[in-house]
Parts: sequence; structure tokens; C-alpha cells
Amino acid sequence: MKIGILALQGGFELHAQMLAILGVDTVYVRKPDQLVSCHGLIIPGGESTTLMKLMREGGLFESISDFAADKPVFGTCAGLIMLAMDSINDNLVTLNLIDLSVERNAYGRQIDSFIDSVEIRINGAIDSFEGVFIRAPKIVAVGEGIDILGTHSDDVVLAENDQVFVATFHPELTNDVRIHQYFVGKIRKSR
Ligand code: GLN
Repeated sequence: MKIGILALQGGFELHAQMLAILGVDTVYVRKPDQLVSCHGLIIPGGESTTLMKLMREGGLFESISDFAADKPVFGTCAGLIMLAMDSINDNLVTLNLIDLSVERNAYGRQIDSFIDSVEIRINGAIDSFEGVFIRAPKIVAVGEGIDILGTHSDDVVLAENDQVFVATFHPELTNDVRIHQYFVGKIRKSR
């Protein structure tokens, strides 16, 4: 199995480290043809407006849409914003691959970055996970066909549909591989 990591901007390297721990091969994706050999794709955190601009310039907007039609994609933070149905209060055009509305930088200036325990349900049990939130978005509406896999207070912070998996926080900034492992399992199931 090989997982692509979109490497245009932002925190892509730590995702590669997580997958290396899990023994999964990775490739940094900067051009559409690099997606061909991938069985799944991670869109990392970063700055969603910059990421979107670079994605369009590189012809990756279309290719990622096509890719996600039959292969799993995992987005963290800005990666989630890109995959969402829309981003309220700005005119960012997103990939619209998961029926979630997000609000960017929704935690406000005072606590724009923080670490707190998140409740996750990914292996048939309720567990906690260290949630690293960095100028994180909030999921403000959950649409059809979405499974909620993690919450923080009243907020949904981890969710999926058949093909797309998203987190508002950064599991790659912990030493805990469970969320990446879950994504690897999602790819295995889809093959
Ligand atoms: N605040 C960023 C944005 O709106 C996301 C931050 C992140 O990915 N850590 O794009």
C-alpha cells in the first residue's frame, strides 16, 4: 500500500513519519500524475487559502476530486476545510467531497491554539485522544451520510463518509498513531 501526502504547503512531513511508524509507504504529491500510484491521500494542515491556490495552479483540484471518487482521502485542519462542502463566511471554493460546513479559525483569537482531550469512537469503543488544535476550524453543520467519530465539548472534531475522513485537529503532532492507523484500515477496506 502507498499513501500520497499532498506536499504543497503546511505540515506534511509529520504525516509521513506517522505512516512510516505504521510501515506504510508514502509519496509526496505535488503533481497530478503522482496520485496514480496512491491508494489513499492525506491533505495536511496549513493555510487553506494558500493550499487551494497552489492546488488549482498545479491542476490538483480536479485530480483530487477524481481520485476521491474511489479512493480514501484524509484531511486534517486546513485539509478538512478543503474537503468540506463549504466554508461559511468566506468565499473559498472547496472540493465538496464531504457534506460538512466549516467555519475557519472558529475558536477566536484568545484561544486560537490549544491542546485538550477529545473523545473518539474509532474501534468500537469510546476512547480519549490528545487533540492538538491550531487555529482550527469548527464543523458547524453535518449533512447526509456522515459518521461522527470524535467530539470535543459539543463540537464534532472527527468524522467520515464512505471515502473521506476528516479531523479538525492534528493527530500527526502527537505520538499516537491510532487515527492514522484507522485511515490505513479505511483504505484496506476500500480496496
Ligand atoms: N487556520 C487555517 C485555515 O483556515 C487552518 C490551520 C491549520 O491547518 N492548522 O486555513
